[in-house]
Formats: sequence, C-alpha cells, structure tokens
Amino acid sequence: MTEFEIIRRYFTERGAGRADVVVGIGDDGAVVRVPSDSDLVTVVDTLVAGVHFPPETRPADIGYKALAVNLSDMAAMGAMPAWATLAVTMPQADEVWLEAFAQGFFELAEQCGVQLIGGDTTRGPLTITVQLQGTVPTGEALQRAGARPGDIVYVTGNLGDAGLALQAWRQQRRLPDPHGDDLFTRLHRPTPRCKEGAALRGLATAMIDISDGLAADLKHVLEASMVGATLDVETLPFSESFRACARGEGFTQEQCLRLALTAGDDYELCFTAPAAQRRRVERLFSRFACGCRAIGVIERTSGLRLKQSDGEPLHLAGDGYDHFVRASRGGGA
Ligand code: ADP
Ligand code: MG
Repeated sequence: MTEFEIIRRYFTERGAGRADVVVGIGDDGAVVRVPSDSDLVTVVDTLVAGVHFPPETRPADIGYKALAVNLSDMAAMGAMPAWATLAVTMPQADEVWLEAFAQGFFELAEQCGVQLIGGDTTRGPLTITVQLQGTVPTGEALQRAGARPGDIVYVTGNLGDAGLALQAWRQQRRLPDPHGDDLFTRLHRPTPRCKEGAALRGLATAMIDISDGLAADLKHVLEASMVGATLDVETLPFSESFRACARGEGFTQEQCLRLALTAGDDYELCFTAPAAQRRRVERLFSRFACGCRAIGVIERTSGLRLKQSDGEPLHLAGDGYDHFVRASRGGGA
C-alpha cells in the first residue's frame, strides 16, 4: 500500500463530520472556521511504542488513547474539542493494525464531535502524534494559575484505577474479573471529562488534568498559583473495582494512597473553586456520571501536605512521593 492508499482507506471521511471544516484531508493544509466570539485552544501529545504504551497494547486501544489524552488536556482548559490532526509513524503498512487503530480512534472522535482534518504518514519506529484544536468563549479558558487561599480542591471520578492495572501488567499478574477488567479499561480507555471541564468555566479558579499522578499535577497548579494545599487523604476517591482488587492483592492503606497520589494515567480533572461555590459545584456534578469529590483546601503556605481524618499530618515514605515533596520544597526536580 502506498501512503496515499493508507490515508484514503483508513483516515478519510470517517468519524464526526463538522460544518466548520472548510477544507479537510486531501489538500496541502486544512482550513477551519473559528467562531469570532471564541479563542482557539491547541494541544498535542506523542505516544511512542515501548515508552508510553507497552508494545503489545491492542491497536484499537492505542488509537483510542492517543485521542483521549489530548481530549483530557482540552477538557482541562475548559475548551470544547473540534479538529484533530494525526501523525502516524510505523515500521510497515500493517492493514490489520491500521484498521483496528482507526476504529479505536474514530469511535472516540465520533463520541466527542471531533473531525480528523489532516496528518502525516511516515515509516519508522511506531509513534503516534495527535494534535487537537478546540474553542472556548473569548477570554474564558481555565488555567493552572488562579487558585486562591480558601479555595476547595476537587477531583472528578476515581483515582488509582489505571495505576493499579499498569502495576499488575508490569508484574505480569492478572487481576480477578470483573473488577480487573474495569481497571484495565480505565488504563486503556480513559474517559476524557470534556463536558465536565467546559461546565466549570466561570466557576473553577484553576484546573489541570491528572496524567502524572494527583500529587505531581496538583503541584503544577500550586506553583502556577503561588499557593499551597492540604489534602485530607480519607476523602481521596476510589472505585469499587479498585477497592476489590486492592483487597485481593492485600494492599495496605498506604499502598492505596500511594497509587492515588503518584501512579498517574487517571485522566481525571483536578480543579479549585471558592468555598462559597461549593453548592454550585455539587449541583453541577449531580448532572454528571463521573461525580466529583472535595479532597482538600488551598492555603497560603506553599507545598502540598497530607492529613488524616483526625487532623494528624501523614508522611508517606518512598521514592515517588519523596521526590515530589523535595521538588515542591526546593522548587525544582
Ligand atoms: P503533503 O505532501 O502536501 O504534506 P501528504 O501527502 O503528506 O501531503 O498528505 C496528503 C493529505 O493527507 C493531507 O491533507 C494530509 O493532511 C492528509 N494526511 C496524511 N496522513 C494522514 C493521516 N495519518 N491522517 C489524516 N490525514 C492524513
Ligand atoms: Mg503539500
């Protein structure tokens, strides 16, 4: 197959169609119409085989996740996704792989109203780059800076699901079904919180999506906002499946907390909002299936602190977390 046959067969005229695409795949560039009352938001992420996903990952899941991680960044800006470009580098034109990859990619693209408008197809080690563009009402994009002392820290959905699945995969251990299945779905097919992110415009003071673990990503918010925070560890949200598998594995509470704080790949939103808006946040999330939990409070003193329900501080030993604490104190990694 030539490059042009690949593009025509697998990537042209699939997924969502959008009226605002003036020129799509097939010309030297794509042309889209950006509403005059909106700002354009651009995000991009590259997935390299063996680095960002194990080489044996199912191609449909790679296609899905390559788009999902970008949708999650878009959601964290409070923006709605619209147009994607896709650069695929692969060792050879494998039709079975391409068909499955495209199926996973377009399944999510359709769900989220994203049209693929262009890309690049080259030969080399398996690497996928997706660039996603979207819009947000002028001046309303949410950022990492903006959290203020007294604000409440919230997180959507549950933490640690993907981390637990990835850990089991690395150690080549199965997790018992049906809970194990749930956790692997959370790892391979994270649900980007697009509607939730957009609904938080004008309400959240700062927002980020959790890709590297709550502790590391919240730290970005704290530094950008020049504030600190204390999290109440008893409030960190865990799924039923997480609890069941963690029990089965004989995990201690500390091991569970460590996964929630440092494991990453959650693709949930972490945001802050004024304490006076707490009812509004709760009302908003009663509409959304993922739920949302208040997990802590923003403070003037920099750094991230953990406390237990009795108010006693909690110190977690171990590499990931120590590294984080050092980094937040010293202001560098
Ligand atoms: P050029 O040589 O002008 O850069 P290409 O031959 O690379 O153009 O691509 C031809 C058309 O196909 C362009 O519209 C490009 O955006 C699109 N395209 C190429 N690869 C992909 C891909 N993997 N997914 C979507 N569109 C693609
Ligand atoms: Mg050209």
